[in-house]
Amino acid sequence: MTQGGAHPSPSGALAPPEGFPLLAHEAAGEGGLVYLDSAATTQKPACVLEAVDAFYRTNNANPHRGAHRLGGAATEALEAARRDVARFVGADADEVAFTSGTTCALNQLAYGLAGLLRPGDEVAVSLLEHHSNLVPWLTVAKLAGAKVRYLVPDRQGRVPDGEIDRAVGSRTRIVAVSHVSNVLGCVQPVERIVRAAHDAGAFVVLDCAQSVAHLPVDLHALGADFAAFSGHKMYGPMGTGALYARRGAASALGPLLRGGGMVEAVFEQGFTFKGFPAVLEAGTPNAAGAVGMAAAARFLEALDMEAVHAHGEALARRMAAGLAAMPSARLYGPGPDGAEERCGIVAFNVRGVGADLAARALDRRNVAVRAGAHCAQPLVRHLGAEAVCRASTGVYTSERDVDRSLGAVEAARQDAANLMTSAML
Ligand code: PMP
Repeated sequence: MTQGGAHPSPSGALAPPEGFPLLAHEAAGEGGLVYLDSAATTQKPACVLEAVDAFYRTNNANPHRGAHRLGGAATEALEAARRDVARFVGADADEVAFTSGTTCALNQLAYGLAGLLRPGDEVAVSLLEHHSNLVPWLTVAKLAGAKVRYLVPDRQGRVPDGEIDRAVGSRTRIVAVSHVSNVLGCVQPVERIVRAAHDAGAFVVLDCAQSVAHLPVDLHALGADFAAFSGHKMYGPMGTGALYARRGAASALGPLLRGGGMVEAVFEQGFTFKGFPAVLEAGTPNAAGAVGMAAAARFLEALDMEAVHAHGEALARRMAAGLAAMPSARLYGPGPDGAEERCGIVAFNVRGVGADLAARALDRRNVAVRAGAHCAQPLVRHLGAEAVCRASTGVYTSERDVDRSLGAVEAARQDAANLMTSAML
């Protein structure tokens, strides 16, 4: 099996882009692709593709179902994947349930904890949340007659201590916050939030969709009760993810999906559930996906998450510095020199040019960024924008890529100016 690229490439990427078949293919031509949309989904290293392929070629059977040899092999592959994914986030294997992604896990958490909410209770979220960590809470809070309260970030996108004290109190039952903003890339003070929530007797749910690919994450050390993350944002396959439940907290969580595999006994008029994590894994699991996600976790461990964090942070600062020096660009969130911890995600706009048009102009120069509200409309509105461009790096991104994208931003501004001049003629 190809081992993931643990050797920095000559271009300055942490992992050589040649180790990612899609990037290798795209780079074949002149002016190869600069992929700066890793926060939406990362490209996949060969070791992940090979692990998925190998599962189907050699182990494919329904896990936890058959008494036959292949059924045992599939079960062992799935459980080994669970151990690897759990270790990667500082958890134990029996604290991790596989899901189809962060959205699925957060819905399971919201509906699974909804029974705790009474009229007048509060769920605290931050204004930075992705819709997947907001809409489920808005829904269950409304059903229970509870209220959603917001922690408002400062200009750098970080929730200040005063906000935590203001929004988390005796009525709070659940605090659900993202570890890293998918728009601004800033790291939230989750230890402080966990402390305040626990002092108030509330559970903490962490949306780790962005953090697991960018930072060393130790869920035991953070003290969160629950967490959610996606495989496809950490170099694993799409349709994979995990829900973490701290051992002492898992019993508070009821199942959302019901069916085969999650029940102990079924009678004509009732049933009993299995314990966590099986109780959350109704139906046939995406075992090949879980195996791929585990390969991605090992790939990142081999790179060393401290190095991954330092790499993303340095690229983000370079990008932010370049944009800050450009009168035509507007930067959102952390500046290039701020002391705050950040990841390889930078939000910006080109003055006088809509985010979508700017992203298309970058695309014409083979630089892929995302434009829009990034499933975080309340935050983008709070920033005073309708849409922003987002450049997000991966372990395959180099300084050269960042410099090429900065050149493309400058050219996008020029395109718009030329368009205006020709419209006036
Ligand atoms: N939360 C955050 C912070 C995200 O960035 C994303 C993906 N953009 C999600 C939740 C949803 O993840 P998924 O689409 O993999 O379910």
